[in-house]
Amino acid sequence: MPDVFDKCRDWETHRIFKSAGLYPFAPAVEEVRSPSEVRVGGRWIIMAASNDYLGLSADPRVQEAAREAIGTRGTSCSGSRLANGTHVLHLELEERLAAFLHREAALALSTGYQTNLAVSALLGGDEVVLSDQDNHASLRDAVRLGGAVERVFRHNDMEHLRWLLADTRPGTGVLIVTEGVFSMAGDMCDLPRITELAGRYGARLMLDCAHDLGVLGAAGRGVPELLGLESGVDLVMTTFSKSLASLGGALAGEADVIDYIRHWASPAVFSAAMTPASVAAALKALDIVESEPEHRERVMRNAARLREGLRDLGYEAGQAPTPVVPVHVGDFMLCLRLWRALFDAGVFTGAVIHPAVRQGREMIRISATAAHTDAQIDRIVEAFGEAGRTVGVIGSRGAGRSR
Ligand code: PMP
Repeated sequence: MPDVFDKCRDWETHRIFKSAGLYPFAPAVEEVRSPSEVRVGGRWIIMAASNDYLGLSADPRVQEAAREAIGTRGTSCSGSRLANGTHVLHLELEERLAAFLHREAALALSTGYQTNLAVSALLGGDEVVLSDQDNHASLRDAVRLGGAVERVFRHNDMEHLRWLLADTRPGTGVLIVTEGVFSMAGDMCDLPRITELAGRYGARLMLDCAHDLGVLGAAGRGVPELLGLESGVDLVMTTFSKSLASLGGALAGEADVIDYIRHWASPAVFSAAMTPASVAAALKALDIVESEPEHRERVMRNAARLREGLRDLGYEAGQAPTPVVPVHVGDFMLCLRLWRALFDAGVFTGAVIHPAVRQGREMIRISATAAHTDAQIDRIVEAFGEAGRTVGVIGSRGAGRSR
């Protein structure tokens, strides 16, 4: 009988990583001086891969709230939301989020990943989910878990989405699922067209705002607020692991829908609730999002400075004004080598390779945060100049084009 463990012993990607001297691929952070400066392998380097967009994980008010919650409520809720794990803090966070997002209700779960999985409770039978090709893995997994039919439209291709809507059997329930800001390439969905199509065909729309909540829109309510289209979105999802400097996630929408998910979603029923510290940190970060827009302004300024510097070097660094700055490489090994050269130069970025993106779309992903200083942004750009020339992704005078 074949051994199911055999594949683990001779795993090609693993071998390639090792032979290229790139293992362990994700180095462990030893100490954190600020969200933009960490110690790895004994060296202090610039963190350019963290999604702590507003830099709030280092905010003393957020840290104190987490400490206080541990002191009064302990380190764990030791039970699921539907059993013993719900504390008044969870309810407070849900009420605050619902009010912030102008929705009837919200449900908070332990991770963003699980929050998306919870949408599986709504899906089943011959219902159809129309998913953008670049949707996060958790959104794709939710459809599989729910057992609905998934039809994937080409990334942001509205003609393809329209065709799929028109091709759906009349009488079938349809949920369109996409992201406000796409996690890897940092571009935005075409929300005006999507809301128009959803309305025209009677489909529901769910939007994952993991990367835009807290950052985009005058009040930080993400892409729907930025574009004035909040009423066209039926279900908003976000995580707390990015702008809200914590761990967890939430769905917000109609009270009946949220209650249904609360009672039927496996992550709410069968997995432990967010820890008190995570809830308290998210609550405090939400206060700051609501009262201090300067962090949003700072991160957007940093992202613009970064994109401009990279473009001057000849890189393709994305067009959308979001904190996610994708540096297109388009080749697996080249991407890993560039990542390594950047790391050696003291900049910790994200190497985005298959299966996080399609083959040929490999990139280095940088997250600008409000914590980066101008000097750090300039140093990141400088390192991209040095590393890109060493690896050969830009020309020797920095005037080439990234491939
Ligand atoms: N949705 C998107 C778009 C994401 O990028 C991520 C994580 N990067 C998640 C959901 C999952 O969130 P979390 O990491 O907080 O579980």
